[in-house]
Amino acid sequence: MNPSDILKKYFGYDSFRNGQEEIIKSILSGKDALAIMPTGAGKSLCYQVPALLLSGITLVISPLISLMQDQVKSLNEAGIHAAFINSSLTEAQITKALNLAAKGTYKIIYVAPERLESNRFMDFALNSEISMVTVDEAHCISQWGQDFRPSYLKIIEFINHLPVRPVVSAFTATATKEVKTDIECILKLNRPNVVVTGFDRENLYYSVEHAAGRRKDAFVIDYIEKHPGESGIIYCTTRKNVDSLYEMLFKRGIPVTSYHAGIDNNTRKKNQDDFIYDRAQVVVATNAFGMGIDKSNVRFVIHYNMPQSMENYYQEAGRAGRDGENSQCILLFSAQDVIIDKFLLDNKNFEEMDTEDIELIKQRDSYRLQVMEGYCKTTSCLRNYILEYFGEKTFSPCDNCGNCHRDYTEADMTAEAKWVINCIAETRGRYGRNIVTGTLVGASRARLREIGADTYRSYGVLSDISEKDIQILIDQMLRKGYIVQTNGEYPVLQMGDISALKQEDTRVLIRKFGDKEIPFSGSRKKVRSTDALTSAGYRLFESLRRLRTAIAKEAGIPPYIIFNDKTLI
Ligand code: ADP
Ligand code: MG
Repeated sequence: MNPSDILKKYFGYDSFRNGQEEIIKSILSGKDALAIMPTGAGKSLCYQVPALLLSGITLVISPLISLMQDQVKSLNEAGIHAAFINSSLTEAQITKALNLAAKGTYKIIYVAPERLESNRFMDFALNSEISMVTVDEAHCISQWGQDFRPSYLKIIEFINHLPVRPVVSAFTATATKEVKTDIECILKLNRPNVVVTGFDRENLYYSVEHAAGRRKDAFVIDYIEKHPGESGIIYCTTRKNVDSLYEMLFKRGIPVTSYHAGIDNNTRKKNQDDFIYDRAQVVVATNAFGMGIDKSNVRFVIHYNMPQSMENYYQEAGRAGRDGENSQCILLFSAQDVIIDKFLLDNKNFEEMDTEDIELIKQRDSYRLQVMEGYCKTTSCLRNYILEYFGEKTFSPCDNCGNCHRDYTEADMTAEAKWVINCIAETRGRYGRNIVTGTLVGASRARLREIGADTYRSYGVLSDISEKDIQILIDQMLRKGYIVQTNGEYPVLQMGDISALKQEDTRVLIRKFGDKEIPFSGSRKKVRSTDALTSAGYRLFESLRRLRTAIAKEAGIPPYIIFNDKTLI
């Protein structure tokens, strides 16, 4: 049989999806593989199909018991001999499963990474033909991934112990460069065939609404009532939020259920099923809900709070529209969310980890929170923001997201961008964004007087422009890498790689929303000053930027920049 026959016979599908066949064929040719495909793309088939064609057993390493159970259940239903060995089984059941496995009963065996360290399991593996080791949710191997699992680091030891090295394949939906490199290096993949399929989910419409407190509730109710019968997930950060939102929707007669880790197992399972089998239109849940859930007709995912990272957001929002139909992903953002997320991250449980790792994880978490906050505040295309973060090339704005659909004006701020550079050069990169903007508009704040800002040549050169617009410009320049922002308590702006900016035809465009065009209007409080909007959230794409600064330094860009443009210094 060939892969297409297997696909038809066991899974009932007529054709492969983007990327699947390539991965399957390369595995069958004996090559290691790393597949980075978005959630719902169909990664499981990419190892299940070859597993049936390889001569021995495929071990699938998977982080979650529920995930293993679901997969094994559907494989068994399809007539495929598969099993899982994990802590949900009793010792007697494990013995039985291992005995059957040793006899070659199963083609596919799912295990948690911890299992690989057990002597009994090692015994079984040493005496069996293991054709492939597949690492599912492989981002767990990386501290840059979203759910780092130290036991994933042991996988390579296990593989090294095997008498014959099996094919190793790894699958994840996280595509950032750091994670990809970690997977390749830590798993010691042998010249793997790396397949990355597009992260763009064209049928998802992304939007961000700025709303706090009761306005969030009003938004949710309004949305659900305007979309009767449409299945949707509402994610909240805390269980408390889940419970109160659930109560409120329930009282309004909306068919709703809820899900979080504080609800007892049986009820939780029942609630999940109510949602999956459309007995409840809406589920209000924490992020404990959804991993491995495959419900195709979810029409909307509303985030009642800002998640802690883009990785989380992309995955959770990505549960909408698995059937390819148009669906909405709406994030309700308030400044309070950032404070709560910071609190949660600060109080994260770091049991059994060494201090170096903890430091690294803290840095990573705060970086990712900034990226997420940047998403909520950006005025440019939301889709491009996501794709850019996941390392995909982006082109023109998508014209299919909340920001693209708002009434905005685009302003050419190339000349102003050069002044930002000049100001940073002139002040030798010693100041943060508020001093830089204040200097450029010629503000007369005490702090500016203190540093003698009015003696700078860039002082007041942009006095006809609002500080808010300069802040938007600075964000844009950070994203492009023209400038960088340091880490730490008092981040300062420094020169990035400005080579592109020196070219005649490079334009720096920013988008401005009119005040009236906030899509969900109401008693919106006026934001007091730009400071509130700009506090910590803009240290975007930090690691990349640091690299770029290094390059700029290497290239010997002098502290004073003199542009050709005659209007400038
Ligand atoms: P991922 O692990 O990438 O998030 P899954 O492997 O869980 O995605 O697959 C998501 C859904 O897509 C499943 O319901 C699966 O049966 C379906 N699917 C996978 N491949 C195909 C295909 N070639 N044709 C149709 N449906 C597919
Ligand atoms: Mg999967």
